[in-house]
This record gives sequence, C-alpha cells and structure tokens, in this order.
Amino acid sequence: LREIRRRAARSPGHGAVRLGIGDDCALLRTREDEEIAVTTDLSIAGRHFRLDWHPPESVGHRTLARGLSDLAAMGARPLAAFLSLGLPHELTTKRDGKHSWVDRFLSGFLSLAAAHKTPLAGGDLAESPIAVADIVLVGAVPRGRALLRSGAQPGDLVYVTGSLGGAAAGLAILSVNAARIDFSADAREGEFAEALAPHLFPQPRIAQGEWLRRRGLATAALDVSDGLSTDLNHLCEESGVAATVEQDFLPRSSGVSIEQALHGGEDYELLFTARQNARVPRRIRGVPITRIGYIRRRRPEEPPITLKSGSVLAPLEPHGWEHFS
Ligand SMILES: [Mg+2]
Repeated sequence: LREIRRRAARSPGHGAVRLGIGDDCALLRTREDEEIAVTTDLSIAGRHFRLDWHPPESVGHRTLARGLSDLAAMGARPLAAFLSLGLPHELTTKRDGKHSWVDRFLSGFLSLAAAHKTPLAGGDLAESPIAVADIVLVGAVPRGRALLRSGAQPGDLVYVTGSLGGAAAGLAILSVNAARIDFSADAREGEFAEALAPHLFPQPRIAQGEWLRRRGLATAALDVSDGLSTDLNHLCEESGVAATVEQDFLPRSSGVSIEQALHGGEDYELLFTARQNARVPRRIRGVPITRIGYIRRRRPEEPPITLKSGSVLAPLEPHGWEHFS
C-alpha cells in the first residue's frame, strides 16, 4: 500500500484532487456549473483478462482504459481514479529481485493515467483467491451538457472514431500465439506488438469526447465496449430509433474481418450521431472520424439495426462480447 501511495502521489492531474490517498476520503474540487460523472468497472482474472495471456502492464492499462472510455463517451474530463485490487499473494511478491506482478500492473495503469492527467486518488488492496481489479472513475462535465445515448433522431448520421475490430483481431492473435510471446517484458515491443496493441493497450478517446461535447455536434454518443452491433443497439434503444450500417464504410485495419469490426468488443472507440448538416471533421485531435451509417425511424415490423452491403439489406443482430467465457 505504501508503494502504491508513493507512486500515486507522482501521478499528475488537473488539480481537482485537493486531498488524495491518506485520509478517510479523498476530496475533489469541481468548478461551479459542473456535474459529476461517475463510472465503475470490475475486471476479473479468467473473465476479462488472463494471467497467462496478458502482461501485467496491459491489465493495468485496460482496467483504467475501460473507465476512461466511459468518461470520454459522456464528454467528461477525468478528475480522479479510485482502484481496488484483490490479489493472490504471489502477485504482490517480488521474485529474484524482479518487479512483482502488481508493480508492473501499476506501471501500465499509471502511465495511461499520466497521459490523461488522471490522478489515482484512492483505493483498497486485499488478498483474494483470484485477481480482481475494480476501477471507479470520477469526471466532470458542464451542467446539462454531457453527451447522452438518448438524443439520436431519424435522419442523423452515425460516426465512429478510429477503427473497429482491432481489439478482437489482436485477441485472436494472442489466443494462438500466447505461448510464444515473452511476457517478462512490456509487450509494447516484440514480434506481435503492433497487431496486439489495440487489444493490450486500447486508447480511450477522452480528447475526442471533450471536443464533441464542446462543439455540441453529437446528438448522441457512447463508447464501443461490447462491439458495434451491441452498442449501436443500446444507442438506438435509448433514443427510440433504428439504424442502418453501411458495411463498406466500416473503418478496419488490415487483418481485421468484417465480423470483428461488427461484433468485436473492447475497441473503446466513440460511436456518435450528428445532424445531416453538421460539419463533422475528418479527424478530431488526430483521430480519423468515419461515417458508417444513418438513423431511421423505428418501426415494429423492421429490425432495429440493418446492415447494408451494396444494395442488399440484412438485419444486424447484436452479438454480445463474451470475453473469455
Ligand atoms: Mg460505456
């Protein structure tokens, strides 16, 4: 705990944390006319990550990325992170003078935290038979201005940041090659590093979410955590609309299948809608923006999401993200 506190004290922030680790509560300072955005995510070994597949730096990074991505989806700026870990004893002990698993977990966690100026302001640590990491992210957004899932209207266009399916494609490579990958080193280097990066080190779109919120361009937004087919369905449900996805428009990296782009989870890109006449740029803060479809009126006799390929229309069923179950 002392080690975590020492390392957390060095994590930079925007000055929102008035009092961090050490007292009974952390104290966060917000600006007037702001609302607080709070999100929580539980990561469990064997379910959301595998100790034999994921380097500890990646588990730390992904734990925080999940929470940051939810803040990004609302257009919130991160104020602070709170991390609770339940770990088997062997993951907290150093072996042969090398860093322990939890040391490396924190390295991955804190380097992403620094990149998004999100201080680690509290948490808990307990011994547990299986490894679990619970993250709470607190953010702030101007009152009444958060990006919601519920504002899409018929005629709006559907956009996505970055590219889709890269995390699923990376996971497929990881599942086949895990035995050949050297996990004693940070997996940001090595033979499979580039293909694995979208899965091991996904980048939450904080800057893009804040940009969209400030410009007031998005009528609805959420992050792609479960896969496009599932998350677009969430957006349509909350907005009371239907949508059509144009298969040929889907942004995919090489080696990513249509199936992975449609249903692969954990890309942590932003999915948003905007009015037809809105000036949506090709890039936001360096990240490409692609129009992938449009919003339709919801009719009981039609499927809520359709996939258009050339002139062929077919229902697009949501396929939930199964993780490792
Ligand atoms: Mg989300």
